[in-house]
Amino acid sequence: MVKVLGELSLPQQDPGGNQQQLNRSREQGPEVAEEGEMSSSSCTNPPFMSLQSFYGTLSENLRNIPDVHKKFLYKCFCKLDRRFYITGFSPHTKVTIINNILLAAVFYKQKCFLFDLELDRRSADLSLTLIICTPNIQEEGQRQEDPSFTLQRMNVAENMVPHNCFGSDYQLLSLDNIDDNKREKWQLLLEKRKNRGATAGVFKDDTLIQVFHKEKPDYKTKQILNDLAVHYEELLLIEIQQYLVMLTQEEKNEGQESRMEILIYIPSSPCIKREKDNITPCFFLLIQKANQWKEQFKFLNFAICVGFTEYWGPLSPNVLNNVSDSVILSTNSVFWPYIGSICFKLNWNKFKNKISKMLKEKKFQKIQNLDKNLRTCNEKLRNLTQSEFEFRQHLNDGNKIISSIFSENDHICKALCNVWEEEVNNQRLEIIKDKVIKDFNNMFANIFLRQQNLFFRNDNLEFCIIPNQQQPK
Ligand SMILES: [Zn+2]
Repeated sequence: MVKVLGELSLPQQDPGGNQQQLNRSREQGPEVAEEGEMSSSSCTNPPFMSLQSFYGTLSENLRNIPDVHKKFLYKCFCKLDRRFYITGFSPHTKVTIINNILLAAVFYKQKCFLFDLELDRRSADLSLTLIICTPNIQEEGQRQEDPSFTLQRMNVAENMVPHNCFGSDYQLLSLDNIDDNKREKWQLLLEKRKNRGATAGVFKDDTLIQVFHKEKPDYKTKQILNDLAVHYEELLLIEIQQYLVMLTQEEKNEGQESRMEILIYIPSSPCIKREKDNITPCFFLLIQKANQWKEQFKFLNFAICVGFTEYWGPLSPNVLNNVSDSVILSTNSVFWPYIGSICFKLNWNKFKNKISKMLKEKKFQKIQNLDKNLRTCNEKLRNLTQSEFEFRQHLNDGNKIISSIFSENDHICKALCNVWEEEVNNQRLEIIKDKVIKDFNNMFANIFLRQQNLFFRNDNLEFCIIPNQQQPK
């Protein structure tokens, strides 16, 4: 159903070699338009190679990648600062839907991971294919202006995740399966958590020597940096780094080496996509810091474990807005498995607004006892919206209520039933879309968190699920 179609990769550079300061990463890279909008390119960039030339650079075994995917990658590359050939990609994620195919490309250093989800096809496997992309640099001094890409596809294949596995935890570390010592550390740290925010702790051997807290940012009063929301990880990593500098000095003075563990708890898993492409998503910030600190604080001999309760994913709530109802309701779509059994509550306010709007029409204004009957009807319908039922039951129950109250007046009865049916249907589609988005996001985040060591060769960073029920009250 969802596949990781490819990973494009540029030659590997020293992963810890040229790290940025935390805030400097904001200044890197051009600003790229948000999802869906793929047209204009940055005016400071020389034009990228033509689409035909780009196709020509694809190695034999990649020519059969669908055109939609190639064009999407091409448009992403066109918008990037050409320096990506040398420096690698600045970390960011692009999401779009073309021809009912949802595409998500994650760029980081020398790699591009491409996921796709065909919305109008029902399938049940997720396969992971690795594509390595090597720019063909010619002899020194003869560099092409636009080095071509060679793409290779390798199978790292995992066949997993039929649709009914969506949402499960696919063997990511969790408080249930980690070793006892680590679990005790997590429990100790979580007891210190304040006001449902984020917290981090530094353990020296088995002793918790320092705790950091960050309360939930107050988005209403816009606690913001550079006009954008700040994430917990950004704030915690700054403080932890300052502390590690101090600690290294102390440890050196004492002349003893110890084993340090840094546990960081955040309510949602680290983000992989930000509001703007020039802000490093927290997932990559953690990877960068883990690499950087490994070198910088060698003496501390440490590992980082990041715990979280909910998955965070790159799809925004409105990403499926333009997918047509007929695709969603087709038996041959990604949405179909969600349609049959889904039970849901309805949003009464949406009905109320629609009904009031309808009643403004003149033809309804002369009906006898309208206000009184409408009050009774509304009250009953409102109660109905509070219960979780399947689509059919919502339809039938609502229609019965309306018909019994307005049996004398066919005209308004029909009009109200239409509003009811239309809105029940709309709300069902909304809920189905929300569920698909949530499941995609969960799976997407899970793949990155679980595979981060394979993808990014980071052996001192791990992720762990902390279920809500296992948190201290
Ligand atoms: Zn974040």
